[in-house]
Amino acid sequence: MADGTILHIDGMIRRYGGVIAVNDISFSVRAGSITALIGPNGAGKTTTLNVISGLIPPTEGRVTLEGEDITRSRADEICRLGVARTFQTPQIFRSMTVRENVFVGTTRLGRITLFGAACNSPRVRAEERDLLAAADDCIGLVGLQNVANRPIAELPFGQIRLAEIARALASRPKLILMDEPASGLSRAEAQALRLLLLRIRDLAVTILLVEHNMPLVMSTAEEVLVLDKGQMLATGSPATIQADPNVRRAYLGMAG
Ligand code: ATP
Repeated sequence: MADGTILHIDGMIRRYGGVIAVNDISFSVRAGSITALIGPNGAGKTTTLNVISGLIPPTEGRVTLEGEDITRSRADEICRLGVARTFQTPQIFRSMTVRENVFVGTTRLGRITLFGAACNSPRVRAEERDLLAAADDCIGLVGLQNVANRPIAELPFGQIRLAEIARALASRPKLILMDEPASGLSRAEAQALRLLLLRIRDLAVTILLVEHNMPLVMSTAEEVLVLDKGQMLATGSPATIQADPNVRRAYLGMAG
């Protein structure tokens, strides 16, 4: 959009029965940025990502992507519009290889019909070659080229996380929603993830990052949104957020 906003959330409320997981939050994400969504356990961060990606509808409110209302769109439609997602527990096919998993991510780009695939025409084979090359580029970007043909189940957890990120990238998203990508990673792996996030951002892919690893958040995000008990407690630059007495008390565990 003209003002540089890729995603806008307006008055989002999400209830689960009597629980209000997200209570009337509004925020924007600038295209090309890394924006972090932080907050204590149960603050409503994953619920927010679930609504944006179409996995659950909001109880009230509106989600717009590049000005288009996607509030009631299905998850697969939102994916086709260029929004990819990774999960707290990687959602990946464990019996398939890294390459096969990442290839799955390219399928939104393909134009092969079932009939076309059954005919196995030269056009279909050429498209498959292009998509495999695109998958390999993403595998290279996350640094898994040496294990590309290994089944996911044989890999250590850190590499499984990277494979999920590669699969998300393979759909050539405009926006990636990442739910705690550093969770379960060693310090060295989290350092490498930091560089990867910056590389992805430099490819003009916007990142909305839910994360508890504060060094990672503060060294990558340009804008930090702080949720607490379903409400937006503060928004601002990492320096502003670290200095905010309410945030220090409620979340960072420091004296106000
Ligand atoms: P964490 O950092 O622990 O992942 P979060 O900030 O992502 O937490 P959510 O998972 O969005 O928080 O949960 C927000 C609130 O909604 C919590 O009180 C949670 O128990 C509740 N909640 C989430 N999913 C459901 C559900 N499917 N049914 C009922 N309550 C839910």
